[in-house]
Amino acid sequence: MRVGTGYDVHRLVEGRKLILGGIEIPFEKGLLGHSDADVLTHAIMDALCGALCLGDIGKLYPDTDPKYKDISSLLLLRGIMDRVEDRGYAIGNVDVVVMAQRPKLASHIDAMRRKLAGVMDCRVDQVSVKATTTEGLGFVGREEGMAAMASLLLFSKDDEK
Ligand code: MG
Repeated sequence: MRVGTGYDVHRLVEGRKLILGGIEIPFEKGLLGHSDADVLTHAIMDALCGALCLGDIGKLYPDTDPKYKDISSLLLLRGIMDRVEDRGYAIGNVDVVVMAQRPKLASHIDAMRRKLAGVMDCRVDQVSVKATTTEGLGFVGREEGMAAMASLLLFSKDDEK
């Protein structure tokens, strides 16, 4: 088994869609980034890279490459999952927490879990998505940005045989 942890932050700006866990969420601002800036999915990607010692996601998907401009982060996640599967690993479980002062995310959590599980070839009950505010503190509390942290476990499919 291998564990990974991931972390990511993106700035909130006007004039962008808010995409979290591959789901578009109605809000007056969105996250700024080269891709769709899906901070939650990026934290999971970062944790997958960590579990397999692939370095950080900026190394795999440079933000200077026009190919990745405004790309859905689910496609990037799928690309990393291909590497995970090539190495004979599969998802044990994923736990991710997104830090956002607003909007309320509770009603979108299950849709995110279903979407992410589909991309990662696992069951919904292997993917936990949680959301928290930061009680008005820090850059998240001031609604300047959002952050996400992920932990996950991979298991070797060879061990199943
Ligand atoms: Mg990012």
